[in-house]
Amino acid sequence: MQDFLSTQQPIAIASPLPRKSRQARVVWRNNVVTVGGDAPVRVQSMTNIDTVDAVETAIQVRQLAQAGSEMVRITVNTPEAAAAVPYIREQLDRMGEYVPLVGDFHYNGHRLLTEYPACAEALSKYRINPGNVGKGEKKDKQFGQMIEAAARYDKAVRIGVNWGSLDQELMARLMDENSRRAQPWDTRQVMFEALISSAVDSARLAESMGLNGDNIILSCKVSGVQDLISVYRALAQRCDYALHLGLTEAGMGTKGTVASAAALSVLLQEGIGDTIRVSLTPQPGEARTQEVVVASEILQALGLRVFVPSVTACPGCGRTTSTTFQELAKRIDDYLRGQMPLWRMKYPGVEAMKVAVMGCIVNGPGESKHANIGISLPGTGEAPAAPVYIDGEKALTLRGERIAEEFQTLVEDYVARTYGATAAAPA
Ligand code: SF4
Repeated sequence: MQDFLSTQQPIAIASPLPRKSRQARVVWRNNVVTVGGDAPVRVQSMTNIDTVDAVETAIQVRQLAQAGSEMVRITVNTPEAAAAVPYIREQLDRMGEYVPLVGDFHYNGHRLLTEYPACAEALSKYRINPGNVGKGEKKDKQFGQMIEAAARYDKAVRIGVNWGSLDQELMARLMDENSRRAQPWDTRQVMFEALISSAVDSARLAESMGLNGDNIILSCKVSGVQDLISVYRALAQRCDYALHLGLTEAGMGTKGTVASAAALSVLLQEGIGDTIRVSLTPQPGEARTQEVVVASEILQALGLRVFVPSVTACPGCGRTTSTTFQELAKRIDDYLRGQMPLWRMKYPGVEAMKVAVMGCIVNGPGESKHANIGISLPGTGEAPAAPVYIDGEKALTLRGERIAEEFQTLVEDYVARTYGATAAAPA
């Protein structure tokens, strides 16, 4: 082994590079969500309820917001949907839920924003897809009508390009020009160029039409991990607008989660991306809020944000032959998440708490001592006792059938004692 004192360079500590974008403001009432610049990377989500059903949409928006979504996008695709938007907003306001609503427009957004001014006003941000605003001569005019509404009501705009609805006229022109190169680019590279040009040129056009450039957010979504990394690296070099990041059509379950985490982590580590969405297809029976959980976990794992107390649990092995330890880890994780809407207000700082639930004596006590509160369950062959560690010290030992309930009570007491109002008061 090399002599430690003769080692010349300490190991570099990894951390995400700083972001360099402009800062947009997405506002509803006194809730100002800043996006870009030195603001935290924001979590977004989207409903999957027919917007015409104002009550159900408002309920799902609230669920997504409670799960940690800082903006929620809703589809605005018909006159009926546009008419429902102010009612959705009103219901949320009545519940004291001021999460900004983002309207998702395609094909007829120019008409809906013009003919339904209450809808235009109730939304905090408009998502405009330059590939779906119209063709030929109509395109700039219809785009201009939407930008005019955003400028009039002082709303942020996301110019959101998607490879599934890329401006085909632009793509055809670039392909044509590419064919005249001495060494034509790969078709995929031309497509990347078309995505980026569509977003950046539309943003510049919007600014020339009177929209404040700070309030423009760009996205160029594709569904391949390496493609997304390629496109956003280039996009970040070509402009300083705030960027919305997401792998489009990420897919279901493990595949969608892993692909999103892989793509977003690389970019976020490079300082690219100011707001994220994880486009998960819900599995049958799965809550829509799962996409918010995954997005939050990506940011928390990278050390960019802290949303919920983390549960450190070992994977288990041949030393954990019962399911007790898995059940306790799940129970504590569910309990902490379930408490967060209330705890966030009542116990500031609790989101940084670390809880350990470990399966045996090998790593159990060590990992538990690193946590705020941790428990080391007995592995196969160990005495049926579960030592609990609080702030690095062994505090007590739990035994018997009610270990799970008793540990949960200890966590609850720890939170009240450590993060409650009296905890912060001077002695
Ligand atoms: S802490 Fe114990 S039970 Fe958990 S993985 Fe390590 S050896 Fe196995």
